[in-house]
Formats: sequence, C-alpha cells, structure tokens
Amino acid sequence: MNSFQPIPNVVDHGDFLRDVIEILFSNVVFAGHSNKVVLWKQPESLKDLFDFSLDQIGVTQEKLLVLIKNTIKFSVKTGHPYFINQLFSGLDPYGLAGQWLTDALNASVYTYEVAPVFTLMETKVIQEMCKMIGPEWGDGMFCPGGSFGNGTAINLARFNLFPDIKLNGLTNLPKLVLFASEECHYSIHKFASFLGIGENNVLSVNTDDVGQMDVSDLEQKILEQLGLGNMPYLVVATLGTTVRGAFDPLNDIADVCKSYKLWLHVDAAWGGGLIFSQKYRSKLNGIERAQSVVINPHKLLAVPQQCSLLFVKDKDILHRCHSKGAEYLFQKDKYYDSTYDHGDKYLQCGRKCDVFKFWLMWKAKGSMGFARHVEALMEVAEYFETQIEKRPDFCLVSKRQYMNVCFWYLPRYLQGKRNILNNTSQLQKVAPQIKAVMVKHGSVMLGYQPLKNLPNFFRFVSQNSALTKEDVDFILDHIADIGRAVFP
Ligand SMILES: *Cc1c(COP(=O)(O)O)cnc(C)c1O
Repeated sequence: MNSFQPIPNVVDHGDFLRDVIEILFSNVVFAGHSNKVVLWKQPESLKDLFDFSLDQIGVTQEKLLVLIKNTIKFSVKTGHPYFINQLFSGLDPYGLAGQWLTDALNASVYTYEVAPVFTLMETKVIQEMCKMIGPEWGDGMFCPGGSFGNGTAINLARFNLFPDIKLNGLTNLPKLVLFASEECHYSIHKFASFLGIGENNVLSVNTDDVGQMDVSDLEQKILEQLGLGNMPYLVVATLGTTVRGAFDPLNDIADVCKSYKLWLHVDAAWGGGLIFSQKYRSKLNGIERAQSVVINPHKLLAVPQQCSLLFVKDKDILHRCHSKGAEYLFQKDKYYDSTYDHGDKYLQCGRKCDVFKFWLMWKAKGSMGFARHVEALMEVAEYFETQIEKRPDFCLVSKRQYMNVCFWYLPRYLQGKRNILNNTSQLQKVAPQIKAVMVKHGSVMLGYQPLKNLPNFFRFVSQNSALTKEDVDFILDHIADIGRAVFP
C-alpha cells in the first residue's frame, strides 16, 4: 500500500459537495416556521445519539452525509424566526452567499498579495463607516467579535498615554483605572484582567432605572480615584446595553472625559447598527466625540457570524500600537506598493475574511436596505412592548429604549399585584421553568436573566426582519399557555 495519502482533490469530490449543498438547502436554508428551532437533547443522551468517534480508518461518503444530516438535526436553527435567544438571528441570503464564497476561496486577509479584492474592500467599508461616525474618523479594523474590539480599545487607550509600553512593558506605570456602567458588557472586565489592569480596577458606575449610566456618579468616582492617587484613563460608554438596550448619555459623558482628559470608548456592538437609519441615528449622537467605537454588523444588521469592527479617530494608532513588520510577510521590497498590506495593523496574523458578506449585503440592499431592516425591527419591538402593556399576565421590567423588551410572565397569583418585586423569590423561578418547557418542545428559544436586584426576566429582541406581529402574538400566547400549565 502506498504510504503517501494525498489530500483528497476537491474537484473529484464534486458530487459529494453537491450533495452537501443540497442537504443544506433542504434542511437549513429553507427550513421554515413549521420546523423546530431545536431538537433538544441532554448532553449525555446526545453523546449516545451522535457518533463523535474518531478512528484510524476514515468512513465512506455515504456515512459522512448521514453524519452531516445528524449534525444539522441536533443543531440549533438560529435562522428560525423563533430563535430569540441571543443578539443575532435570521439568515440573510446575501450574507450566506458571501460566507460561502470566502470559505470556498479559503481567504486570509493580511497582504494585498494573497487577498487583493478583500484588502481593497476592507479599506472601502472602513472608510465608508468612518464617514458615518464623524468627519475626523481615521481608521478601523475587523475583529473576531465585539469583545476583542473592546479589549483592543482598552489597550489602545493605555498605549496612547504610555507609548513606551510597546517596547518596555508595564513596569513603572501608575495604577490605571477605567470606568464603565454596571450594565456594561462583561468583556470589559475580561480584557481589563487579560491586559494586566485587573477587574477590580474597572469601576462600576451606577445606572438609573432604565439602565443608563448616571453621569454624576461617574464624575464622583473619577474624583474618588484621583483622591486615592490612582490614574483614571478611560471611560467605556455603551450604546445599546446587552440586556436592556440602554443608551448611556454620550454627550454628557464626553464632557466629563474632556474635562478629565480621558479616552472615551463607545461600545456600540449592539446599538451601532442604527447608524444606517436616518430615523434613529440621533440615538447615537455624540459618538463622533469618542476616540474609539465598536460596532457589530453581525448583531443588528444580521450579517452572518462573525462581523465586528473597531473604529479609531487617530488614523495611525493601530499601526503605531500593533505593528511589528515581520519580514517574511511584510517585505519592504515587494513588487507592488506594500502600503496596501494592512495586516500589520492587526494583532492577528492569518485572519478570516469577514468583510465580503457585509459588503455583499450592503451592495445588494444599499444603505437604505439596512435602514429599512432596522426600522422594521423597531416596529416589531414597539408592538411587542404594547402587547405586554395590554396583558394582565405580563409585566414590563423597564421602559423599552431599543429592540430589547424585558418582561416578566406573571403567574395568576401575581397578576394585578401592586408591587410584584415583593415576590422576588417566586418570580426568580418563573422564566427558567417556562424556558425549559419551550426548549424541550423546540418551539421557541428566548433568553432570560436576572439584573441587579431584578429577578429573572425574559428578554425579547429580534434581528430577524422576517418576524411578524402574528409571530409576536404566537410567542406571547405560547408563554402564557405554558405559564398557566406550570403555575396553575
Ligand atoms: C454582544 C456584545 C458585545 C460582545 O460582542 P461579541 O461579538 O459577542 O464578542 C460587546 N458589547 C455589547 C454591548 C454587546 O451586546
């Protein structure tokens, strides 16, 4: 037997790939309302039902096709209208086509040499979005998620103050502290820890009863830290908080940052998609006054996972902070203008091409298409909130400011009660129990969480503009039906 086994040739596997595409078409792409969101199995039983084994000898293509079907069968259908579990959903045809194309080309975007089209495309998309943020905005980078973008910004802000750390590290630095609201995304703490700042040096600023940062508390905490001899250097404001969809008062925060000379980073991972809508752009007012901004097109704009960008006002800072000039990749004596090689401003080396699916969607729909998408979603969220307010078996957690509608289902014994928060321990159990029933049915996946002193509540949020008012009615009736059965 020949011991040399060549890599199978894709060309000889045309039939196999066509079969796979056919399976994807019938089981994923065109699987509609009538299918389940998930065929739920506990981990131990999934281990028995699915063949995870790996052996010396490979299996036949027929077996592989069965495994592929089973993978789809037991996976969550995130494109299903009743997948409302996360801040992404929906399956955009142009986005999917874009993702398929970049996977087929197996592109990696570090140099013009290996990614000519995608390099120029990234520049174009970054430039266009910089213009939308503000006239002075200089550059941006694609990120493997908003968490990574936030972390990069935390580091850029520190580098901006102490450029010497790039070569000499963190010794001799004063004790740096940063500020973010108590409802900020947890990536701020994770990356503060990762970067050697420490989670305890992320000061939590109080939020009001709808979830917005309290700016007087911010200023007081800055003064407190200065009094302790620590060095405030960064404020993270959130536009569209993850749970409640709150928008921090950006202009007031920018004023504070200006008077204390602090870097302002805006985490608009969730809210930033509004930048395409004339109607709602004002919710982002003040964004141009920041030094850095994160926007996730893979959330509100429904670009397939992942597509996330960090923008910076200072157009050279990404290069100054990140570049290393590796000579095997970024040779200075290339046969083309090597300033087109953007890879060195990134922290990654090889990098997935996330621009194409976004660009293709933008090209297909136009900016107006994204605006219409966003505005349609807001209408559904408005309708959802109105229905909650009308029904005695539901109760809003706080007034809606965005797509997020946070609400409790009220068992009969709590309906009509003046202060339902006196029943926190009972309410805490309601959402998890109803969710468990829904997931076991495979009917609806809807997220829940506690927040501050508020017991577990559901969060409705949609990025899927195919979701209709009838769907909203179905979801609420479904929760109420389960609620009546579980809490008679
Ligand atoms: C989702 C989210 C993030 C993190 O984005 P990922 O792409 O999931 O890493 C950061 N900030 C806010 C406000 C978010 O909602």
